[in-house]
Amino acid sequence: MTQASAFQQVPKILAWVCLFVLSLSTCARTCFAEPPTEVLPEHERVGDLKSPAEFFDFEIGSRHLRHDQVVSYLKYLSDASDRVTLVEYGKTHGQRPLATVIISSANDGDQLEILAAKRQEITQHPDRPTPSEAKLVMYMGYGVHGDEASAMNAVPLVAYHLASSLAAEVLQYLQNGIYIVDPALNPDGNDRFANWANENRGQFPSADAADREHQQPWPGGRTNYYWFDLNRDWLPTTHPESQGRLKLLHKWKPNVVLDYHEMSGSGSYFFQPGIPARNNPLTPSKNLELTRRFAAEHAKSMNAAGELFYTEESFDDFYIGKGSTYPDLHGSVGILFEQGSTRGLKLKNDRTNRHFRDAIANQVRTSLSSLAAANANRADLLDYQREFYANAIAQAAASDVTAYILKGTESRIDAAAGILNTHSITCYQPASAMRLDGITYPATEVLVVPTNQPEYTFLRSLMEPMQSFRENIFYDVSTWHLPSSMDLEYVSFSAEIPANWLANRWQVKNTVNPNELSEGAANGVGFAFAPTELGAAGLAATIQTNGGHLRVGFKTVQPDRRGPKLPRGTYYLLKQPNAENWDALCQVIAREASAMGIEVHPLSSSMTSRGPDLGSDNLVAIPKCNPLLVVGEGTRAYTAGAIWHHLDHRMRQPATLVETSRLRSVDLNSFSCIILPDGSFGGWSAAEASALKDYVRQGGTVIGVATAIKWMASNDLININTAKPKLEQKTVTSKEIPFGEASSAAALESIAGAFLMTRVDQTHPLAFGFPDGRVPVFRDHSAMYSSPSNTYQVAARYTGVEAGYVSRRNRDQLSDSVAVWAETYGSGRFIMLAENPVFR
Ligand SMILES: [Zn+2]
Repeated sequence: MTQASAFQQVPKILAWVCLFVLSLSTCARTCFAEPPTEVLPEHERVGDLKSPAEFFDFEIGSRHLRHDQVVSYLKYLSDASDRVTLVEYGKTHGQRPLATVIISSANDGDQLEILAAKRQEITQHPDRPTPSEAKLVMYMGYGVHGDEASAMNAVPLVAYHLASSLAAEVLQYLQNGIYIVDPALNPDGNDRFANWANENRGQFPSADAADREHQQPWPGGRTNYYWFDLNRDWLPTTHPESQGRLKLLHKWKPNVVLDYHEMSGSGSYFFQPGIPARNNPLTPSKNLELTRRFAAEHAKSMNAAGELFYTEESFDDFYIGKGSTYPDLHGSVGILFEQGSTRGLKLKNDRTNRHFRDAIANQVRTSLSSLAAANANRADLLDYQREFYANAIAQAAASDVTAYILKGTESRIDAAAGILNTHSITCYQPASAMRLDGITYPATEVLVVPTNQPEYTFLRSLMEPMQSFRENIFYDVSTWHLPSSMDLEYVSFSAEIPANWLANRWQVKNTVNPNELSEGAANGVGFAFAPTELGAAGLAATIQTNGGHLRVGFKTVQPDRRGPKLPRGTYYLLKQPNAENWDALCQVIAREASAMGIEVHPLSSSMTSRGPDLGSDNLVAIPKCNPLLVVGEGTRAYTAGAIWHHLDHRMRQPATLVETSRLRSVDLNSFSCIILPDGSFGGWSAAEASALKDYVRQGGTVIGVATAIKWMASNDLININTAKPKLEQKTVTSKEIPFGEASSAAALESIAGAFLMTRVDQTHPLAFGFPDGRVPVFRDHSAMYSSPSNTYQVAARYTGVEAGYVSRRNRDQLSDSVAVWAETYGSGRFIMLAENPVFR
């Protein structure tokens, strides 16, 4: 093009610019003038109550609400409406309040407390008929996964509807029921996502899934502060969100529990029933029938809006630690909802051209249809829950098992009892030492859990190590066997329980009296504590961070002829070389050991009764621990987060978290060990591999967890054979699998979650702390590793399946595989843990 012709083009270009600007202003008007989805029915409403749009000054669904905004609206409703009461049931790790509202017509004075107390009758006297005036309780839970935003954003509309409507049907609901509206089960994750979405879109949001707004960075908003999936925490209750919520649920014993989620953007809308064959076998069949009655009501409402949905094809109800399954084992009906996500403000794909506000509208629709279904079936739901508990007591009475007896160190027993207590299961400890199968156990090292109690159904699911199932495909883990998860021995006791065993009801130990260390103890040569105690590593870390030098015993030591034997792996805090700091360290050990429930043994002489004396080289110095945990893209956030949480809360061990992309810019030699969590480490190259290898050659320790081992092997850090033993020969099966069954066939060979038993080499330092030689481990993947030729390297091998589903072929392969092993290289070592040892 010549210069002259270019000038001739100018007026045309100007016209285009004008058109473009014009089109922007038109779009701006349409973007901001989009009317709210008319989802709430046209009811007469309490006039002076602000709607969410009036309160926020923008329409619901026009941006992502932060958690504090939702709470401020609920607080406003609580202040302004006599139907609404705000309750706080805890705080998240990130210090956000776990606030919920209780909505009903019974909010005066202490009416709610009186009603909650009455609810306890359901479990205590389930044989009594339901009083005609009994209220239905429905817990409406939104957004346990923080990036499933339509859930939490629906809450202001649902709460406003219940607080403001003057329609006869809503007044009837409020008279007949109590609605616990929990706006956000995972506030830390909710805000992580809301901030990302709000900060990464312009005035004209892109509906393209590739847009930055739709692509939240690692770890995403799904998980909580420590990247934990809270929808798996209803059973282990590791986190404050679940602990607080379960207290609230057991206080109210809801008849219905709603569990609001989002699924992938290509999905339509799902509500339960899920796949009927994948229900937990302990869930009564009536539960499914009641769920179907709700489904009919949701279908009516969604059809009226012309919305697509599906049921019965996905999402199982098996793992009892999930929000829609836990209620099913408590006489309640748990219902899961999954809305196809916009993961931002707008999303266009081959199924939908969806706006966030339309996703929210669906969640509101099924909340309202749940209210209708619950009220239409109120009498049946109330009777069902009583029948559930009456049956549980009858089944317990008919069972051969009268009690489950758990055995282990005091700290482990207390931790297990704490979990059982959270689930309203009563446990006891004997008045004095208890004799069982010819062995005497101190009273504090056993727990007696009678089966004759209302929560028998749930108790069974925790205690019985199931291995065969009606359907062998699992959306999540196939088991959560409490004794295996806490490494406790257990016995199913079938005789009459001696009265003496039930002498002391176990209670949460709220106040801890610090150990008074006698002057003699402080003046002795030091202290020891055994690695079998649950918090032993945490106490060791605390002593180290307070400047203490520790040793570890490589052999069993019996300090006094009449005293206890201290097993291999026992920690020793000796006056030498801690003399300068001794008084302060004595205070630390007295205070912290009491707080952690750890028994500390004072040592009066360097001369021992059996085993090495305390000046022996068999007591090896523990180097100062200063771990680096690799996190970020290429690692699995669940595992990285579980390890971080374990270091931070259980071990109280300061740790440095380094993003995978930054590993090469860090001086690795300043760390005592580097932990590689589960992951593919896709962004790493030969440079990271060589940096890690150099670090180990110079004396460092690299710990690889689960699939990190594959990366270590394929980058020649270690020599292990990662090929599955025997697998190659068996990949072609004699049976032809039809195309339509291929995904099910693959699922049958996966290990979704099962407890395996390992045999440990008790003399191996990696196996210290497990004196009975057996350690249950939890596995949720099917990668297997052949035994190295040098068997001294191996600390643990599999011996079988303890609980959960593992296919026959996987069982065969496991028998040739190793679970924990080490390889030395230069002056350092690689340590491999085939399973994440701190799963959930
Ligand atoms: Zn979800």
